[in-house]
Amino acid sequence: MRQLSSLKLQRDSPAPPSTKVDAAEIRVLLAAPRGFCAGVTRAIDAVRDALSVHGAPVYVRRAIVHNLEVVRSLEDEGAIFVQELDEVPPGSVVLFSAHGVSPAIIGDAKRRGLTAYDAVCPLVSKVHREVRRHQQSGRKLILIGHKGHPEIEGTLGHASAGSTFIVNSAADVAALPLTDDAPTAYAVQTTYSVNDARDIVDALKARFNDLAGPSSSDICYATTNRQAAVSEIAARADAVIVAGDPSSSNANRLAEVAAAYCDSVQLIANASEIDWSKVPDSGAIGITAAASTPETAVQSIIDALGLRYQVRIEQVETVRETVVFKRLAVA
Ligand code: SF4
Repeated sequence: MRQLSSLKLQRDSPAPPSTKVDAAEIRVLLAAPRGFCAGVTRAIDAVRDALSVHGAPVYVRRAIVHNLEVVRSLEDEGAIFVQELDEVPPGSVVLFSAHGVSPAIIGDAKRRGLTAYDAVCPLVSKVHREVRRHQQSGRKLILIGHKGHPEIEGTLGHASAGSTFIVNSAADVAALPLTDDAPTAYAVQTTYSVNDARDIVDALKARFNDLAGPSSSDICYATTNRQAAVSEIAARADAVIVAGDPSSSNANRLAEVAAAYCDSVQLIANASEIDWSKVPDSGAIGITAAASTPETAVQSIIDALGLRYQVRIEQVETVRETVVFKRLAVA
Protein backbone atom coordinates (compact mmCIF):
# COMPACT_ATOMS: atom_id res chain seq x y z
CA MET A 1 0.00 0.00 0.00
CA ARG A 2 1.33 3.46 -0.83
CA GLN A 3 1.30 5.75 2.14
CA LEU A 4 0.31 9.35 1.56
CA SER A 5 3.12 10.43 3.88
CA SER A 6 5.47 9.35 1.10
CA LEU A 7 3.95 12.14 -0.99
CA LYS A 8 5.06 14.89 1.36
CA LEU A 9 7.03 17.76 -0.09
CA GLN A 10 10.80 17.43 0.06
CA ARG A 11 11.48 20.61 -1.83
CA ASP A 12 14.83 21.53 -0.39
CA SER A 13 16.44 18.14 -0.52
CA PRO A 14 16.09 16.36 -3.86
CA ALA A 15 17.94 13.08 -3.54
CA PRO A 16 20.83 12.86 -5.98
CA PRO A 17 20.24 10.14 -8.56
CA SER A 18 22.61 7.20 -8.90
CA THR A 19 24.44 8.54 -11.94
CA LYS A 20 25.91 6.61 -14.83
CA VAL A 21 29.61 7.42 -14.52
CA ASP A 22 30.59 7.12 -18.22
CA ALA A 23 27.50 8.96 -19.49
CA ALA A 24 27.19 12.52 -20.80
CA GLU A 25 26.59 15.22 -18.24
CA ILE A 26 23.28 17.05 -18.03
CA ARG A 27 22.41 19.93 -15.71
CA VAL A 28 19.02 19.84 -14.03
CA LEU A 29 17.62 23.28 -13.24
CA LEU A 30 15.13 22.52 -10.51
CA ALA A 31 12.49 25.21 -10.00
CA ALA A 32 11.75 26.40 -6.50
CA PRO A 33 9.03 26.80 -5.52
CA ARG A 34 7.40 23.81 -7.17
CA GLY A 35 4.89 21.14 -6.15
CA PHE A 36 2.37 21.14 -3.35
CA CYS A 37 0.89 24.48 -2.26
CA ALA A 38 -0.69 25.22 1.11
CA GLY A 39 -4.23 24.65 -0.21
CA VAL A 40 -3.42 21.23 -1.64
CA THR A 41 -1.64 20.15 1.54
CA ARG A 42 -4.65 21.28 3.61
CA ALA A 43 -7.13 19.39 1.39
CA ILE A 44 -5.12 16.15 1.49
CA ASP A 45 -4.68 16.47 5.25
CA ALA A 46 -8.46 16.92 5.58
CA VAL A 47 -9.13 13.57 3.89
CA ARG A 48 -6.59 11.83 6.08
CA ASP A 49 -7.99 13.50 9.21
CA ALA A 50 -11.52 12.43 8.25
CA LEU A 51 -10.31 8.85 7.78
CA SER A 52 -8.58 8.98 11.13
CA VAL A 53 -11.60 10.45 12.99
CA HIS A 54 -14.47 8.65 11.23
CA GLY A 55 -12.76 5.54 9.89
CA ALA A 56 -12.96 4.25 6.33
CA PRO A 57 -14.64 4.75 4.06
CA VAL A 58 -14.99 8.46 3.66
CA TYR A 59 -16.32 9.78 0.38
CA VAL A 60 -14.78 12.58 -1.68
CA ARG A 61 -16.82 14.38 -4.33
CA ARG A 62 -14.58 14.68 -7.41
CA ALA A 63 -10.75 14.61 -7.26
CA ILE A 64 -9.66 16.25 -4.00
CA VAL A 65 -6.86 17.84 -6.07
CA HIS A 66 -6.07 17.26 -9.74
CA ASN A 67 -3.49 14.50 -9.41
CA LEU A 68 -4.12 10.81 -10.02
CA GLU A 69 -1.24 9.65 -7.82
CA VAL A 70 -2.67 11.59 -4.86
CA VAL A 71 -6.15 10.20 -5.54
CA ARG A 72 -4.87 6.61 -5.77
CA SER A 73 -2.91 6.98 -2.53
CA LEU A 74 -5.98 8.23 -0.68
CA GLU A 75 -8.03 5.38 -2.15
CA ASP A 76 -5.46 2.98 -0.69
CA GLU A 77 -6.11 4.55 2.71
CA GLY A 78 -9.89 4.18 2.46
CA ALA A 79 -11.23 7.18 0.54
CA ILE A 80 -13.87 6.59 -2.13
CA PHE A 81 -14.06 9.18 -4.90
CA VAL A 82 -17.43 9.89 -6.50
CA GLN A 83 -18.68 12.26 -9.14
CA GLU A 84 -21.95 13.27 -7.49
CA LEU A 85 -23.58 13.15 -4.05
CA ASP A 86 -26.23 10.63 -5.10
CA GLU A 87 -23.42 8.04 -5.13
CA VAL A 88 -22.80 8.60 -1.39
CA PRO A 89 -24.79 6.36 0.98
CA PRO A 90 -27.02 8.21 3.52
CA GLY A 91 -25.29 8.91 6.84
CA SER A 92 -21.79 8.84 5.29
CA VAL A 93 -18.94 11.33 5.55
CA VAL A 94 -18.17 13.35 2.42
CA LEU A 95 -15.49 15.90 1.59
CA PHE A 96 -15.51 18.59 -1.07
CA SER A 97 -12.37 19.34 -3.05
CA ALA A 98 -9.88 22.20 -2.85
CA HIS A 99 -11.49 23.71 -5.97
CA GLY A 100 -14.63 24.70 -4.07
CA VAL A 101 -18.30 23.94 -4.68
CA SER A 102 -21.49 25.92 -5.05
CA PRO A 103 -23.75 26.53 -2.01
CA ALA A 104 -26.31 24.27 -3.73
CA ILE A 105 -23.98 21.26 -3.36
CA ILE A 106 -23.45 21.98 0.34
CA GLY A 107 -27.22 22.30 0.79
CA ASP A 108 -27.75 19.01 -1.04
CA ALA A 109 -25.32 17.24 1.33
CA LYS A 110 -27.30 18.56 4.32
CA ARG A 111 -30.60 17.38 2.81
CA ARG A 112 -29.13 13.92 2.30
CA GLY A 113 -28.05 13.73 5.96
CA LEU A 114 -24.35 13.54 5.12
CA THR A 115 -21.56 14.73 7.38
CA ALA A 116 -19.82 17.13 5.01
CA TYR A 117 -16.44 18.84 5.20
CA ASP A 118 -15.52 21.52 2.70
CA ALA A 119 -11.79 21.37 1.87
CA VAL A 120 -12.03 24.42 -0.40
CA CYS A 121 -8.80 26.39 -0.47
CA PRO A 122 -9.13 29.61 1.57
CA LEU A 123 -7.93 31.55 -1.48
CA VAL A 124 -10.81 30.17 -3.56
CA SER A 125 -13.21 31.08 -0.72
CA LYS A 126 -11.90 34.64 -0.94
CA VAL A 127 -12.97 34.76 -4.61
CA HIS A 128 -16.41 33.38 -3.65
CA ARG A 129 -16.83 36.22 -1.14
CA GLU A 130 -15.83 38.83 -3.75
CA VAL A 131 -18.30 37.42 -6.25
CA ARG A 132 -21.16 37.57 -3.75
CA ARG A 133 -20.25 41.13 -2.74
CA HIS A 134 -20.12 42.37 -6.33
CA GLN A 135 -23.45 40.84 -7.18
CA GLN A 136 -25.12 42.15 -4.04
CA SER A 137 -24.08 45.60 -5.25
CA GLY A 138 -25.87 44.96 -8.54
CA ARG A 139 -22.88 44.50 -10.83
CA LYS A 140 -22.73 42.12 -13.77
CA LEU A 141 -19.98 39.62 -13.03
CA ILE A 142 -17.26 38.67 -15.51
CA LEU A 143 -15.26 35.57 -14.57
CA ILE A 144 -11.84 35.18 -16.19
CA GLY A 145 -11.34 31.44 -16.27
CA HIS A 146 -11.74 28.14 -18.05
CA LYS A 147 -15.33 27.10 -18.65
CA GLY A 148 -16.02 23.67 -17.16
CA HIS A 149 -13.13 23.78 -14.67
CA PRO A 150 -14.40 22.73 -11.20
CA GLU A 151 -13.25 25.99 -9.62
CA ILE A 152 -15.21 28.05 -12.15
CA GLU A 153 -18.25 25.76 -11.77
CA GLY A 154 -18.12 26.25 -7.99
CA THR A 155 -17.64 30.01 -8.26
CA LEU A 156 -20.55 30.26 -10.70
CA GLY A 157 -22.72 28.72 -7.99
CA HIS A 158 -22.01 31.73 -5.75
CA ALA A 159 -23.20 34.14 -8.44
CA SER A 160 -26.66 34.85 -9.81
CA ALA A 161 -27.66 32.93 -12.89
CA GLY A 162 -28.05 35.15 -15.95
CA SER A 163 -25.79 37.98 -14.78
CA THR A 164 -22.43 36.18 -14.96
CA PHE A 165 -20.19 35.78 -17.99
CA ILE A 166 -17.04 33.69 -18.46
CA VAL A 167 -14.26 35.11 -20.61
CA ASN A 168 -11.02 33.56 -21.74
CA SER A 169 -9.57 36.14 -24.13
CA ALA A 170 -9.68 39.80 -25.13
CA ALA A 171 -11.93 38.73 -28.03
CA ASP A 172 -14.42 37.30 -25.51
CA VAL A 173 -14.41 40.67 -23.74
CA ALA A 174 -15.23 42.48 -26.98
CA ALA A 175 -18.13 40.08 -27.60
CA LEU A 176 -19.78 40.46 -24.17
CA PRO A 177 -23.47 41.37 -24.58
CA LEU A 178 -23.25 44.34 -22.19
CA THR A 179 -23.27 48.08 -22.67
CA ASP A 180 -19.94 49.78 -22.04
CA ASP A 181 -21.38 51.77 -19.11
CA ALA A 182 -22.96 48.75 -17.37
CA PRO A 183 -21.80 48.35 -13.73
CA THR A 184 -19.45 45.37 -13.97
CA ALA A 185 -16.95 43.50 -11.83
CA TYR A 186 -14.43 40.81 -12.59
CA ALA A 187 -12.87 37.89 -10.75
CA VAL A 188 -10.13 35.53 -11.90
CA GLN A 189 -9.64 31.76 -11.56
CA THR A 190 -6.89 31.27 -8.97
CA THR A 191 -4.81 29.07 -11.28
CA TYR A 192 -5.09 31.22 -14.40
CA SER A 193 -2.09 32.38 -16.45
CA VAL A 194 -0.74 35.59 -14.90
CA ASN A 195 0.15 37.06 -18.32
CA ASP A 196 -3.14 36.09 -20.01
CA ALA A 197 -5.14 37.49 -17.09
CA ARG A 198 -3.26 40.80 -17.37
CA ASP A 199 -4.20 41.09 -21.07
CA ILE A 200 -7.86 40.29 -20.39
CA VAL A 201 -8.10 42.71 -17.46
CA ASP A 202 -6.56 45.40 -19.69
CA ALA A 203 -9.28 44.68 -22.28
CA LEU A 204 -11.98 44.93 -19.59
CA LYS A 205 -10.60 48.24 -18.32
CA ALA A 206 -10.43 49.59 -21.85
CA ARG A 207 -14.06 48.69 -22.52
CA PHE A 208 -16.03 49.22 -19.29
CA ASN A 209 -16.37 52.62 -17.58
CA ASP A 210 -17.64 51.27 -14.27
CA LEU A 211 -15.54 48.16 -13.58
CA ALA A 212 -14.74 46.82 -10.11
CA GLY A 213 -12.08 44.23 -9.41
CA PRO A 214 -10.21 42.52 -6.61
CA SER A 215 -8.02 44.65 -4.34
CA SER A 216 -5.21 42.15 -4.85
CA SER A 217 -4.90 39.55 -7.59
CA ASP A 218 -7.25 36.55 -7.44
CA ILE A 219 -4.47 34.46 -8.97
CA CYS A 220 -3.04 32.81 -5.91
CA TYR A 221 0.49 33.10 -4.56
CA ALA A 222 1.28 29.48 -5.50
CA THR A 223 0.27 29.91 -9.14
CA THR A 224 2.10 33.22 -9.41
CA ASN A 225 5.29 31.88 -7.82
CA ARG A 226 5.36 28.66 -9.86
CA GLN A 227 4.82 30.51 -13.14
CA ALA A 228 7.62 32.96 -12.27
CA ALA A 229 9.95 30.11 -11.30
CA VAL A 230 9.31 28.10 -14.46
CA SER A 231 9.92 31.14 -16.67
CA GLU A 232 13.28 31.58 -14.94
CA ILE A 233 14.45 27.99 -15.57
CA ALA A 234 12.89 27.74 -19.04
CA ALA A 235 14.85 30.78 -20.22
CA ARG A 236 18.09 28.96 -19.30
CA ALA A 237 17.16 25.40 -20.36
CA ASP A 238 17.39 23.37 -23.57
CA ALA A 239 14.25 21.48 -22.55
CA VAL A 240 11.68 21.62 -19.76
CA ILE A 241 9.72 18.90 -18.00
CA VAL A 242 6.60 19.90 -16.08
CA ALA A 243 5.48 17.20 -13.67
CA GLY A 244 1.73 17.32 -13.36
CA ASP A 245 -1.58 15.74 -14.18
CA PRO A 246 -3.03 16.58 -17.61
CA SER A 247 -6.30 17.58 -15.88
CA SER A 248 -4.53 20.16 -13.72
CA SER A 249 -5.04 23.78 -14.75
CA ASN A 250 -1.98 24.72 -12.74
CA ALA A 251 0.15 22.17 -14.61
CA ASN A 252 -1.08 23.20 -18.04
CA ARG A 253 -0.39 26.86 -17.33
CA LEU A 254 3.16 25.99 -16.25
CA ALA A 255 3.72 24.16 -19.54
CA GLU A 256 2.35 27.15 -21.49
CA VAL A 257 4.58 29.60 -19.64
CA ALA A 258 7.62 27.36 -20.21
CA ALA A 259 6.81 27.12 -23.92
CA ALA A 260 7.09 30.91 -24.21
CA TYR A 261 10.78 30.60 -23.30
CA CYS A 262 11.83 27.13 -24.47
CA ASP A 263 11.06 25.10 -27.62
CA SER A 264 11.02 21.68 -25.96
CA VAL A 265 8.43 21.31 -23.20
CA GLN A 266 6.66 18.19 -21.99
CA LEU A 267 3.94 17.83 -19.37
CA ILE A 268 4.07 14.38 -17.81
CA ALA A 269 2.63 12.69 -14.73
CA ASN A 270 5.85 10.87 -13.83
CA ALA A 271 9.07 9.37 -15.22
CA SER A 272 7.30 6.57 -17.09
CA GLU A 273 5.91 9.18 -19.51
CA ILE A 274 9.19 10.93 -20.41
CA ASP A 275 9.54 11.50 -24.15
CA TRP A 276 13.29 10.93 -24.47
CA SER A 277 13.35 12.40 -27.98
CA LYS A 278 12.68 15.75 -26.30
CA VAL A 279 15.54 15.44 -23.81
CA PRO A 280 18.82 16.92 -25.10
CA ASP A 281 22.04 14.88 -25.22
CA SER A 282 23.71 17.44 -22.97
CA GLY A 283 23.16 20.96 -21.69
CA ALA A 284 20.41 21.89 -19.25
CA ILE A 285 16.95 20.54 -18.56
CA GLY A 286 14.50 22.47 -16.39
CA ILE A 287 12.13 20.59 -14.10
CA THR A 288 9.14 21.89 -12.16
CA ALA A 289 5.96 20.48 -10.69
CA ALA A 290 2.40 21.78 -10.46
CA ALA A 291 0.80 22.74 -7.15
CA SER A 292 -1.05 19.41 -6.99
CA THR A 293 1.95 17.23 -7.90
CA PRO A 294 3.77 15.26 -5.22
CA GLU A 295 7.54 15.55 -5.01
CA THR A 296 7.79 11.79 -5.69
CA ALA A 297 7.00 12.57 -9.34
CA VAL A 298 9.94 14.99 -9.55
CA GLN A 299 12.23 12.52 -7.84
CA SER A 300 11.20 9.76 -10.26
CA ILE A 301 12.13 12.01 -13.20
CA ILE A 302 15.51 12.87 -11.71
CA ASP A 303 16.15 9.18 -11.02
CA ALA A 304 15.28 8.29 -14.63
CA LEU A 305 17.67 10.96 -15.91
CA GLY A 306 20.33 9.50 -13.65
CA LEU A 307 20.13 6.16 -15.45
CA ARG A 308 21.15 7.85 -18.73
CA TYR A 309 23.23 10.88 -17.75
CA GLN A 310 25.58 12.20 -15.16
CA VAL A 311 23.17 14.56 -13.46
CA ARG A 312 24.19 17.82 -11.84
CA ILE A 313 21.32 19.42 -9.91
CA GLU A 314 21.05 23.18 -9.55
CA GLN A 315 18.08 24.41 -7.54
CA VAL A 316 16.86 27.76 -8.88
CA GLU A 317 14.94 29.49 -6.11
CA THR A 318 13.02 32.59 -7.18
CA VAL A 319 11.13 33.05 -3.90
CA ARG A 320 10.84 31.17 -0.61
CA GLU A 321 7.25 30.27 0.27
CA THR A 322 6.14 30.32 3.89
CA VAL A 323 2.34 30.14 3.46
CA VAL A 324 0.64 27.53 5.64
CA PHE A 325 -3.14 27.23 6.07
CA LYS A 326 -4.82 26.24 9.30
CA ARG A 327 -5.92 22.62 9.21
CA LEU A 328 -9.60 22.03 8.45
CA ALA A 329 -11.49 21.14 11.65
CA VAL A 330 -12.65 17.55 11.28
CA ALA A 331 -14.44 16.15 14.31
S1 SF4 B 1 -3.21 26.48 -6.32
FE1 SF4 B 1 -3.66 28.32 -5.11
S2 SF4 B 1 -5.89 28.42 -4.97
FE2 SF4 B 1 -5.35 26.33 -5.65
S3 SF4 B 1 -5.23 25.14 -3.76
FE3 SF4 B 1 -3.16 25.91 -4.15
S4 SF4 B 1 -3.01 27.86 -3.00
FE4 SF4 B 1 -5.18 27.32 -3.17
